[in-house]
Amino acid sequence: MAKRDYYEVLGVPRNASEEEIKKAYRRLTRKLHPDVNKDDPQAEAKFKELNEAYGVLSNPELRARYDQLGHAGFEPGPNGEGGFDFGGFGGFDFGDLGSIFEAFFGGSPRARRKGPERGADLRVELTLTLKEVATGVVREVEVQRHEACVRCHGTGAEPGTEVRTCPKCGGTGQVQQVRGGGFARLVTVVTCDQCRGEGRVVDRPCAECRGSGSVARRRRIEVRIPPGVESGDGLRLAGQGEAGRRGGPPGDLLVFLHVQPHPIFERRGTELFCEVPISIVEAALGAEIEVPTLEGQEKVSVAPGTQTGTAKVLSGRGLPHKRGYGRGDLHLAFRVVTPTRLTAKQKELLKAFAAAGEGSEGEQERSSLFDRVRDAFRGRSPKADSR
Ligand SMILES: [Zn+2]
Ligand SMILES: [Zn+2]
Repeated sequence: MAKRDYYEVLGVPRNASEEEIKKAYRRLTRKLHPDVNKDDPQAEAKFKELNEAYGVLSNPELRARYDQLGHAGFEPGPNGEGGFDFGGFGGFDFGDLGSIFEAFFGGSPRARRKGPERGADLRVELTLTLKEVATGVVREVEVQRHEACVRCHGTGAEPGTEVRTCPKCGGTGQVQQVRGGGFARLVTVVTCDQCRGEGRVVDRPCAECRGSGSVARRRRIEVRIPPGVESGDGLRLAGQGEAGRRGGPPGDLLVFLHVQPHPIFERRGTELFCEVPISIVEAALGAEIEVPTLEGQEKVSVAPGTQTGTAKVLSGRGLPHKRGYGRGDLHLAFRVVTPTRLTAKQKELLKAFAAAGEGSEGEQERSSLFDRVRDAFRGRSPKADSR
């Protein structure tokens, strides 16, 4: 079944504000909750769809990704590539989306004892030049993240004092609330107010983190980008995300890559393409000219009689392969520039040039056009005619 558009699921316009999205979600949660729709066999699926849509649209980074790529932005390619996946760096599994959803809904109504929780992933974007793609590059990104408090090792308790299971929720972090009665009895699960959902309470909060177990830090992180990457590729830096909770491991830092278009080189995979203008004299007589490469300049020869569109390949002057060895090629296409600002002297010389030969090649080819039209009317193929 085709996936419904997330905005459609939430019934909001594409430019909806965060507040509108949140409101729509709250309204629909009450309407679609499986506990309220016990007769609808689809209830569970509808509720799941709603949660998924909200999980993405309520997160600015995920929403931007969805706006750009749609559902495809969250699916791996046919070989498990694309989406957010780059060989050797670990796939982009959406296991963490699960925990996002859980965070929104406080988990299932069945009380669970809260265990260690992995930290959230952080996302940053990096824009690269084509030259950086050719060589690979080490860049720094600045992230604001929470790190486990060094003083209390993330427990939130002042060293030497105790961490106890929360007496109100028994360590689940959640308490049930029952509203209404009879048919309209609605059980909701809310975060425990005594432990703020942590399931534990400390006797004396840590002086450094005030009991939260983590401290906000601004960090510069080195990102090593391998050669040959493309826009849409991503890197995963394990353990460089938000601190985990209750002793859980930290999340990862996900780096979205974007490659700037180059002013003269067009890129297709590992191949580069560039149009090189040449003068009519260079085209007719041949010449040694300088052409641009990603690294600088290179001398190439233009053969006498070169036409517009004539190609020349500089092997190994393209981009490196993403996986493996070797580089693509740089494909030059010559374009003969017909002069438009001739001096009187140049005009004279060109007239003398025309007079010196028995009709130019251009004129000859043009008159053969008429021959070919005539032959076509007589039902002869131009190919047979040329023999
Ligand atoms: Zn602390
Ligand atoms: Zn509690």
